[in-house]
Amino acid sequence: MAGEGEGPAIGIDLGTTYSCVAVWQHDRVEVIVNDQGNRTTPSYVAFTDKERLVGEAAKNQVARNPTNSIFDAKRLIGRRFSDSLIQNDIKLWPFKVIEGPTDKPMIVVTHKGEEKHFAAEEISSMVLKKMREIAEAYLCTTVKNAVITVPAYFNDLQRKATKDAGNIAGLNVMRIINEPTAASIGYGLDKVGIGKRNVLIFDLGGGTTDISLLTIDDGTFEVKAVAGDTHLGGEDFDNKMVKHFVEIFKRHKKEDISGNARALRRLRTACERAKRILSSAIETTIEVDSLYNGIDFSSSITRAKFAELNMELFRKSVELVEKCLTDAKMDKGGVHDVVLTGGSSRIPKVQQLLQDFFDGKQLNKSINPDEAVAYGAAVQAANLAGMGNEKVQHIVLLDVTPLSLGVRVLGGEMSVVIPRNTTIPTKMEHNYTTVCDNQTSILFSVYEGERVRVVDNNWLGEFELSPIPSAPEGVPQVKVCFEIDANGILNVSAVEQTTGVSCKITITNYKASLSTEEIHRMVLDAKKYEVEDDEHRKKAKAKEALENYTYKMRSIVSDKEIGDKFDATGKEKIEAAIKHVILWLDGIQHAKADEFEDKLIGLELICNPIIAKTSRRQ
Ligand code: ADP
Ligand code: MG
Repeated sequence: MAGEGEGPAIGIDLGTTYSCVAVWQHDRVEVIVNDQGNRTTPSYVAFTDKERLVGEAAKNQVARNPTNSIFDAKRLIGRRFSDSLIQNDIKLWPFKVIEGPTDKPMIVVTHKGEEKHFAAEEISSMVLKKMREIAEAYLCTTVKNAVITVPAYFNDLQRKATKDAGNIAGLNVMRIINEPTAASIGYGLDKVGIGKRNVLIFDLGGGTTDISLLTIDDGTFEVKAVAGDTHLGGEDFDNKMVKHFVEIFKRHKKEDISGNARALRRLRTACERAKRILSSAIETTIEVDSLYNGIDFSSSITRAKFAELNMELFRKSVELVEKCLTDAKMDKGGVHDVVLTGGSSRIPKVQQLLQDFFDGKQLNKSINPDEAVAYGAAVQAANLAGMGNEKVQHIVLLDVTPLSLGVRVLGGEMSVVIPRNTTIPTKMEHNYTTVCDNQTSILFSVYEGERVRVVDNNWLGEFELSPIPSAPEGVPQVKVCFEIDANGILNVSAVEQTTGVSCKITITNYKASLSTEEIHRMVLDAKKYEVEDDEHRKKAKAKEALENYTYKMRSIVSDKEIGDKFDATGKEKIEAAIKHVILWLDGIQHAKADEFEDKLIGLELICNPIIAKTSRRQ
């Protein structure tokens, strides 16, 4: 890729609900604000009959355009359509998701009057591109290199798909790192010289819960264990509240709104707002005008009720802490700091449960829960780019793989090659043999997960090793090698050894992930959208310039004091020209940027000389 390794390197926290971008500059991390002045940007993409919107603009029009406003792409990325979690989500999403080729979920939207299908990678690439543009606007230069974060509990397919999304956005993805590990950098970067500390990062976001236990020692961040749930976060808490109010509405108004996407969307927005308020107030009200069939809705909810609705989920998130500690073989008394991050970690009940679990230990709220991940990603980006100060250059990240990886063996059992929580990058080997006489090939099915039987684990892909030299069962020796790179992405190869004939195969074609050709097509599509977006922006700017000038002229000639200074023919000429332009503006449906520009030049040619003449006369 051209320009790789050059220029600034940014850190992007690609969140389920919000994304954040940061860069190392002037000897510190700067979290970059978007065009609306906000430090986080909604991970939303919307399609209308005229344009494509990303971020704030997309989220702001959701209620008007629910079926074409896409969010939660991170919940879809790297998953199969048949996945039961996806099937459940589909029931809640106002947009349509269908089964694409090879069980891949495809998002269906109407864009400029045409039906379009997008993979989750493409939607995420649009969000990543937006974050890249935010950084470019701030740095006044092109940005190519980025570190992107993913939940520690993301599996191999989800990581690979996120990397693909980065490539589609035209980024050189320097590294995929884990969100809690990134957050720990924000926490530990300045804690040099205070000795070794065991730190538990509790990251509760919009879509995921991510727990990491690390030891931080003078710039070395060593992950001991991770635990998490890629489907447990703020949106699930919103859903519980929505469900609650749908019931209340049914009871009080005798109407069922559950099939109405627009009403549900508006109720959900109100619930999310109420949830945030309940982190600081103990009671709040929900009000939605004309929610359904013209009926207004107003109801109240207390912090206690909200906690009750979600208690099971809150407990689940704290149980993951226990699992993480068990995996790390650490007693909870051995944890020095419990650090909170992720927007949902602000929920008082969650904090209380966590504090109770740690026998009343004070929780650490010193890092910004919305920005810590992007902060750490920016530090890691600077480190990889050879930038930053001595502290940044000294950082060593030692992460682990979240799930055990292995192959299917006789009886449908899982033979683990790399156990979970192994430090990455890593390379491990295992020997296998044939199960029949004169077997000519072996089919390797690769799985990840902790269950004994592969059917209960997650299938990643398969490949066939052939030819195997003819021999009795159990004689051929096949060495299978699993290699996980620094991004947490797996490569598998197998070599037949007994006769010295070796053959090596690497899994590259996971069914659910994109092929090189598909990525190439998506890159081209992304360029096409970029051109369209640019055209749209140029057109909007040209139209605005024309309107501004026209209305300015109109106010000048109609102003009592200034207008009277014009001679009669001059004034008439300007008025006629303005009228002509306003009529044209009202009547046009589709005009290009240059048509607006031509009109502006035409109008200026009429008005400017008359104005100049008038001001000379004064
Ligand atoms: P993600 O990275 O998964 O997008 P974030 O860490 O940005 O998530 O957190 C976003 C989530 O945090 C949303 O579900 C949002 O509603 C929730 N959130 C933000 N502020 C608060 C708050 N004050 N109280 C409760 N939840 C909050
Ligand atoms: Mg997050």
